[in-house]
Amino acid sequence: MDKQEQVKQMTTIIADFVGHMAKVLPDDVQAKIKELAADEKNPLAKTIYETMKTNMKLAKELSRPSCQDTGVLQYWVKCGANYPLLGELEGILREATAIATQQTPLRHNVVETFDEYNTGKNIGTHAPYVMWDIVPDRDDVEIFPYMAGGGCSLPGSGKTLMPGEGYEGVAKFVLDLMTSYGLNACPPLLVGVGVATSIDTAALFSKKALMRPIGSHNPNEKAAYMEELLEDGINKLHLGPQGMGGDKSVMGVNIENGARHPSVISVAVNVGCWNHRRGHLIFDKDGHVQVLSHSGVNY
Ligand code: SF4
Repeated sequence: MDKQEQVKQMTTIIADFVGHMAKVLPDDVQAKIKELAADEKNPLAKTIYETMKTNMKLAKELSRPSCQDTGVLQYWVKCGANYPLLGELEGILREATAIATQQTPLRHNVVETFDEYNTGKNIGTHAPYVMWDIVPDRDDVEIFPYMAGGGCSLPGSGKTLMPGEGYEGVAKFVLDLMTSYGLNACPPLLVGVGVATSIDTAALFSKKALMRPIGSHNPNEKAAYMEELLEDGINKLHLGPQGMGGDKSVMGVNIENGARHPSVISVAVNVGCWNHRRGHLIFDKDGHVQVLSHSGVNY
């Protein structure tokens, strides 16, 4: 396959996969919703979980998006330094987003800031936004597409804390945010927390944390313990599905962290809703693709 054909094929696959993501939730999210539904005791919450399960079933059967808000597309790309289409990738993701918008179809959500008009294609200035990691000594590329809905983006927040506030300050920030905004984001939530030096790095890590599978743990034991404590603490708010009250509030809490300046500690939160539409694909250098997030999807 020549380069031009490979670009075309990759664009078609990503456009199709983005459309699929809008209709079918990733395996880990589906499994967690089923687990929470089975454990729930509150009768209203149980009914809402049943509605969510019916929604997932019908969205797949009828081939329609599982939520009316199909979000603004974002992509986290972990690209091998030797991957042959590195230079073409941003263009491929942009084109795939426009195609997916038309063919799925996806709601038109991209409004140019300041000029305040809808582009009608879900592409615009820095949209879709691509977060890049270049990985040395690799010739493949991992792509995590994500649909950032309005409701689930709403609680997003960050703060650089005084050093004395420490990890207690981090926990307080996350819990305060969950008590004030958590229920706006269609719980049960996946809470992504970033901890680092400056606010931009913390914010980036909090979004990357949402790409980690539910049930995975931070490799640092202390960070993993904090994930557990925050999950318990947020669950004790008993937000329940759709914020209507119930036993639990979250599908999980994922923390991603980077080393920090000793004088500051920044924390940021990004939230995924129950309709957490993120995918994970790997393309090798020859264009063969593996879908890791959604079983049964092959190209
Ligand atoms: S928060 Fe999620 S489930 Fe709720 S409306 Fe937004 S995208 Fe849909």
